[in-house]
Amino acid sequence: MLRRTKILATLGPATDKPGVLASILTAGVNVVRINFSHGNEREHLNRVKAVRQWAHNNNTHIGVLMDLQGPKIRVAGFKDGIQIKLNVGDKFVLDADMDKISGNQNAVGISYKTLPKEVKSGNILLLDDGKIVLEVVNVKGNKIDTVVTQSGFLSDKKGINLRGGGLSADALTEKDKKDILTASKANADYVALSFPANGDDVRLVKKLLKESGSDAGVIAKIERAESLADSIIYDIIEESEGIMVARGDLGVEIGDPQLPAQQKRLIQLARANDRVVITATQMLESMIRNPIPTRAEVFDVANAVLDGTDAMMLSAETATGDYPENAVRTMHDVCVETEKSPTAKTSHHRLHERFKYIDETIAMSTMYAANHLGVKVVVSLTDSGKTPLWMSRMSSNISIYAMSDSVSTLRKATLYRGVYPCDIDRMDDAEWETVNEKVVSILKEKNIVEDNDLVILTKGMHVNQSGGTNLMKILRVGDSDL
Ligand code: PGA
Ligand code: MN
Repeated sequence: MLRRTKILATLGPATDKPGVLASILTAGVNVVRINFSHGNEREHLNRVKAVRQWAHNNNTHIGVLMDLQGPKIRVAGFKDGIQIKLNVGDKFVLDADMDKISGNQNAVGISYKTLPKEVKSGNILLLDDGKIVLEVVNVKGNKIDTVVTQSGFLSDKKGINLRGGGLSADALTEKDKKDILTASKANADYVALSFPANGDDVRLVKKLLKESGSDAGVIAKIERAESLADSIIYDIIEESEGIMVARGDLGVEIGDPQLPAQQKRLIQLARANDRVVITATQMLESMIRNPIPTRAEVFDVANAVLDGTDAMMLSAETATGDYPENAVRTMHDVCVETEKSPTAKTSHHRLHERFKYIDETIAMSTMYAANHLGVKVVVSLTDSGKTPLWMSRMSSNISIYAMSDSVSTLRKATLYRGVYPCDIDRMDDAEWETVNEKVVSILKEKNIVEDNDLVILTKGMHVNQSGGTNLMKILRVGDSDL
């Protein structure tokens, strides 16, 4: 059974072990995530190479998303790498003057030296994804005096978030700029931008990608409280190819109780604006150490499917977990079963809206027809990939095949819900005359259709014309006159 919702799996030490990468790709990973927060360039490039090699050997396409670290604010290191225990009521100092290796029971350094200028007494700082909570009592020069209000263990380089957000750190660090060059070298299909504060941050990363010769799509990770404001989120969505509901950092900044409603809002906003959306973080967290998920995790995955996400992400579950293959299989099974639910198949998408473009109108009409006529599959002959993207914004249970000779377009489509990339040879004008027959023969060869099945095909009048889709044709497989 084909799964519509796509699985994005983070690679790491666990998937470097012999056979593990192949096992998770075989289990159904559609896109891999390379996390620039860990590892070095050589490791990243080797992982991308291994994925591309596997895809080539298996005659399929796997997308590559490379995730920039961004300005994650962290505590520095502790003396001899020790772990300390902070108890409720303890005084603790975040000290911008302290070096990277001298943290102790009373104080620790910080990576973001201007933090003392940006917080004031009464602010709440959350350490290690909110496990430890500090309340700011006083700021004296470069030292932030705090009192512990939620206890926990603290060790090297744990993250710091400010409840409510608003820290002014630039979205792109010097490391991110270097990593953009690595992403370009690796021919990444997508680059994820961490902590964008607004659309300008997205525009900057797009400019740098373009300068480096990359055609990667930008996925904006929504993980700052301030980026949720209507005016800002609209601009970010407009500028990017897609967004990620980055529930880890976002949850810490806005508080977990606000997350579910925001997840639904962000997924809807992305889809309504013809962008892709990834739901991320702790989807199957307990499977890092257990072979089976909790029931709450099963529901979390299912609810993301019902919310309409294009893809969902596995982080430590695959990168460092003990059961990477189980995690992918679990996600796959829950998606497939949930997609059978009637609400996942029907659509009121843009029923009362006007369309802007001809190819967009063809895409929408095709899905309307497909959902109402009951066809076997939809095929979009596409150069840019825009038509299948538009199609996939409309909920349906009909498979959409994106057929193209552009590898970059096919690999981008790996992220689109309900869209399956499919190669077709480049054609000339004469061959284009018989393209309908060609499409049907490819579908038959792959056992996707059989005689008498209905197929809706979209294409342009002319061969190899980007953005030129202006025809929709309903074919019956086996008819002599296609
Ligand atoms: P991260 O982003 O895993 O890179 O922090 C995702 C998130 O914050 O949820
Ligand atoms: Mn994050």
